Amino acid sequence: MAQFRIDKYLADAGIGTRSQIKKYIKTGLVRINDTCVTRPETKIDTSVDIIYFNNRPVQIEELEYYILNKPAGYVSATKDNIFPTVMELISSNRKDLSPVGRLDKDTEGLLLITNDGALSHRLLSPKHHVDKIYYAKVAGIMTKEDVIAFEKGLEIGDEDLQTTLPADLKIDSIDESSNLSYVYITLREGKYHQVKRMVHAVGKEVLYLKRISFGGLELPKDLEPGQSRALTKPELEILLSN
Ligand code: URA
Repeated sequence: MAQFRIDKYLADAGIGTRSQIKKYIKTGLVRINDTCVTRPETKIDTSVDIIYFNNRPVQIEELEYYILNKPAGYVSATKDNIFPTVMELISSNRKDLSPVGRLDKDTEGLLLITNDGALSHRLLSPKHHVDKIYYAKVAGIMTKEDVIAFEKGLEIGDEDLQTTLPADLKIDSIDESSNLSYVYITLREGKYHQVKRMVHAVGKEVLYLKRISFGGLELPKDLEPGQSRALTKPELEILLSN
């Protein structure tokens, strides 16, 4: 539970300078719940206290950012009538958090969850071309021709017949005996089922998909599927630089 001095809280909320707030307190304009505040150094607990200035509640929007290693079986939504949602894997009481974009139910890996709508919008905007890197196990042998086709952009069955933006396909390994390929794919946009549809467009099928990087931020090695944690400051700075 976060404890702050009431004068700092009101200053951070833009109510006035510390000296102005001192005066407001003296004139009885500041209240914590039902109690009128008399001292600027009074401590508040923002998880339980409601602060009023001039009979109006004062709120500071606190931004929260989480990184989740999404396991298969969870949907990237705030609510679902059938399946568990990724929100169940985040330890926060805030009701305004939501996932930044979507991973398919069977896709694993890096998913951001935040209440920072402006950042979320920027990361997802088709104008911004934020890099997303996926690791995939593919049924079929991916070839140099596929690398070139990905680089050119593929027609993946969209109604408007628009091709995808160029994507990087890097073949990690090939298992000829099992007819399997292991690849890294970098996308700069986020069309529905895009990796699966691009792989399908070159005649193969994705069997397993995991996002390992988003906007320059990498999935931490020690974050097991199902685990989440708050972003560190350096991690947030990487995202904000997009
Ligand atoms: N592309 C897909 O096909 N699925 C995902 O979950 C993400 C990208």
